[in-house]
Amino acid sequence: MKIITTSWDDGHPLDFKIASLLEYYGLKGTFYIPKSNPENEVMNEDNIIRLGEKFEIGGHTIHHSSLNSSDSDFLKSEIIEGKIWMDNLLSMSTICFCYPKGLYTTLAVNIVKEAGYKYARTVELLQTEVINHHLAPTSLQLYKHSNLVYLINPIRRSGFIGFLNFLKNNRLENKLESLTNLMLDNIEENDGIFHLWGHSWEIENENLWNDLEKVLKICSKRDNFSKMSNSELV
Ligand SMILES: [Zn+2]
Repeated sequence: MKIITTSWDDGHPLDFKIASLLEYYGLKGTFYIPKSNPENEVMNEDNIIRLGEKFEIGGHTIHHSSLNSSDSDFLKSEIIEGKIWMDNLLSMSTICFCYPKGLYTTLAVNIVKEAGYKYARTVELLQTEVINHHLAPTSLQLYKHSNLVYLINPIRRSGFIGFLNFLKNNRLENKLESLTNLMLDNIEENDGIFHLWGHSWEIENENLWNDLEKVLKICSKRDNFSKMSNSELV
């Protein structure tokens, strides 16, 4: 299977701008939303319901808390109560979760499973296959990382030499587009999942809306790829 999926974290009101771009380019996405976030604005509950009418919504804890903890009561209150809050709000059982800031312990992963989530996303980059659905990696973040960040993410698929050449030959300006094409070409040959993700507040702060649109346009042109939400991967 050749699949393109996307996910967008934190529920900032600018997520609606991403939602309209996804609709325009015929792509699907899952929006991971906490109940509150001390670091960033979160859309109100009416807007979460409105976004949920067109797109999948997934859990992102109650307080956008880091889950690198071994405190079972704390983890349960953030993960399980977060799911109960969201399921009640949307009148449905949500099945996808995303670890805030990509942080978790084995206990946190087990509580995510116990809560009833069938899929949980990390922030690992450059991956095109999902081996463990409760530690699902991504392919590309809509953010201009340094080459070092890409190098410390292990590359499981073939094409490592191609990737090193890529780092040598591509400058920062077109890196996101080049990485998208590189991974989509790899999936054309070997099958796999291209998982694009990001934060709308970060895209705004870093002035990356044009880059987002370019990447979405590249994805929309791959007619032979299935466009899926995160839950459709499981
Ligand atoms: Zn987050």
